[in-house]
Amino acid sequence: MRILVLSDIHANLEALDACLEAAPPYDRIFNLGDIVGYGANPNEVIKIVRELGKVFVRGNHDRACSGMLSLDGFNANAGLAALWTHNHLADENLEFLRQLPKGPLAGMENVMLVHGSVRDEDEYVLVLHDAQPLLEETESPLTFFGHTHIQCGFSEENNHRWQTLMPIYRSPTGPQHFMFHLRPGTRYLINPGSVGQPRDNDPRAAFLLYDALEASITFYRIPYNIAAAQKKIYSAGLPERLAERLAEGR
Ligand code: ZN
Repeated sequence: MRILVLSDIHANLEALDACLEAAPPYDRIFNLGDIVGYGANPNEVIKIVRELGKVFVRGNHDRACSGMLSLDGFNANAGLAALWTHNHLADENLEFLRQLPKGPLAGMENVMLVHGSVRDEDEYVLVLHDAQPLLEETESPLTFFGHTHIQCGFSEENNHRWQTLMPIYRSPTGPQHFMFHLRPGTRYLINPGSVGQPRDNDPRAAFLLYDALEASITFYRIPYNIAAAQKKIYSAGLPERLAERLAEGR
């Protein structure tokens, strides 16, 4: 079983298209939430992901854009984008977002899916220090999470042998992938990175492939037409910063 893991697409159609085109053969898709918010193509992106897969956990932007979450905790640009998205979403897509399940969700045997973390769907797991208590508490050998827009992983082997896993890419521009094997007896938290708004100083779209048979994870970074995505954000009247940051990858 080969699973494509996507997260934080954020209504970026150009980035999603590029990822799907570059993706290796797969059997299923797991989607870790924040399908919309920030980008200019929420309806188009929802249509594609609905057709491709049925395994989703909701993100905070999915809740905010469908009117299920107050915008109080959002910064000004995120709040404006959520309102814009809410006003532009087709009714059936609003309904689709509202019925998305809250994580944690069992994606398959031994695999948990969350947007933020198992204990809080809105928690940011940014560094090893954040991951340690979660790895100590979890029963699941493998948890996929999103929310931070940073492609990385954390692991715990044999009680308290901790590790941060960062992919190493030779080229900062072309399509790249980075593969590693999961070790038996080790628990992992793995973030595929963000398809539509990376924040790890690499503007290329991010996702991963999990090969359950081989017990391997392959991180991908894929260049896409950033200028086209930016142009749509400008013409939609969305905050300009949301376009600028795509080129910076942060
Ligand atoms: Zn997000």
